[in-house]
Amino acid sequence: MPGVMGREGRYALPEQQGPRAADFVLAGQPLPLTGTLRLYTCGITPYDVTHLGHAATFVWSDLLVSLARRLEVKTVSSRNVTDVDDVLTAAAARTAQHYDELAAMQEFQFERDMRELSVARPDLTPKAHAHITQVVQLTDALLRVGAAYVVDGTVFFRAPADLDRHGLDEQQAMAAFAEFGDVAEDGREDVWDVPLWKPSGDADPAWPSPWGWGRPAWHVECSAMAATVFGASVDVLAGGADLAFPHHAYQAAILEAATGTRPFARRQLHVGTVLVDGAKMAKSTGNLVLLRDLLADHEGAAIRLMLLNRRWADAWDYTPDALAEATDLLTRLRAAAAGSGGDADRVHAALLADLDVPTALAVALDEGGEAARTALSVLKL
Ligand code: ZN
Repeated sequence: MPGVMGREGRYALPEQQGPRAADFVLAGQPLPLTGTLRLYTCGITPYDVTHLGHAATFVWSDLLVSLARRLEVKTVSSRNVTDVDDVLTAAAARTAQHYDELAAMQEFQFERDMRELSVARPDLTPKAHAHITQVVQLTDALLRVGAAYVVDGTVFFRAPADLDRHGLDEQQAMAAFAEFGDVAEDGREDVWDVPLWKPSGDADPAWPSPWGWGRPAWHVECSAMAATVFGASVDVLAGGADLAFPHHAYQAAILEAATGTRPFARRQLHVGTVLVDGAKMAKSTGNLVLLRDLLADHEGAAIRLMLLNRRWADAWDYTPDALAEATDLLTRLRAAAAGSGGDADRVHAALLADLDVPTALAVALDEGGEAARTALSVLKL
């Protein structure tokens, strides 16, 4: 029997040679994996089709889960659905649909796209809709500790003085605020305060609350969902780089104020923005690269490899050539995997070093055999 050494009381454990979960580094800082890895990924607002920028975030989250599980680290992943949001309500109104109907359809298509990229369904998929009670409780808690105040049915969160702006200066931070539709013309005491609960108009979804009929705002929805599934903190908070500020900064500040536990997130996985001709993809500029269109004539694995074959924090430019190169690389990796020899350890070591996929792939091509098979398996190609 493996591991039984001829003496009573000695038991078998999985192999402990080579790179270990305790070696893991994320965002330049050690994050020894121990106990349960709690990963909260900021999910979609289901009002539009998935583009390459969304897909990048979810593929990187999925890789982190894949690596942790390979190293036998228990992982609980959560990816929310923000199905109560003013942009969703507005999009539904434009097409004369009910917002819940639009959300359900978009969510279905999103999940189909994710399957084609081999992104596993997270263990937990909280929806804003099902967490209104928790938003009200959280808002109540913030009022009790003086971190929020009410003005005419709107509850505002008082931005802390040490709010993490993720390196943005005041002007850049204000521009980021404006990009997500936050405007300081509604009675808030300070320009950096944000609404938690807003009174609903006739066309808006509405729930009863101690402050009247209304609906939650975006940041507090994610705060409430994260606190409901994970409690006061998470190990990794993932999302696109544009979510760092204001969304994740406020999500963290809201929870830290309510729970007293700091930091809310031990590490942040802010995936670099996917650009087209140097510009961020946006519906308004008409430069969206839709996953559906790419999947029409490319293998999902090639798209996944294109998204992963870089440092996760870097912004990069999508071009059709990048996808052609990834398709070619995938063919070479598969050929290399058919060979013998190779060592999985160097692949694991590269991935443990801040998810360094380019190095892992270089090792896989160089050594072939087991190294290439390991890379294909962990990267789910
Ligand atoms: Zn979020």
